Amino acid sequence: MNIQLLQVAVLRMSLMHEYSVACDIIRIAENYAKESGALKVLNIGLVIGDYSGFIGESIQMYFDEISMGTLCEGAIISIKHISPKLKCRQCYKLFKRQPFSFACSECGGTGEPTNIGKEFFLEYIEIDS
Ligand SMILES: [Zn+2]
Repeated sequence: MNIQLLQVAVLRMSLMHEYSVACDIIRIAENYAKESGALKVLNIGLVIGDYSGFIGESIQMYFDEISMGTLCEGAIISIKHISPKLKCRQCYKLFKRQPFSFACSECGGTGEPTNIGKEFFLEYIEIDS
């Protein structure tokens, strides 16, 4: 299957995940705020790799909706996007893949996929203290 088509399929499938991920983020951030005695969650940092299958905008959309009435209401989600990188088999350099190509930008060798770009995690939670 064409890689680009596959990506689109994965992205479509993942649209359902964003709702439950938004719920998880709110639960984690709210627990953290309560434990710390804070009244409000101000800012939430997310790291999302472009190949993680998660769409930041959808998470933000669900988050805004679900967080109403919680300590997370009005919190800002700051998203750090990570571009996928390939690793060259010849010179071991990490490089960003160009469309329709796996060629190393340095030596022209063939790159293979790495885990860079598949990240998905909560980086930080800022609360009102
Ligand atoms: Zn190379």
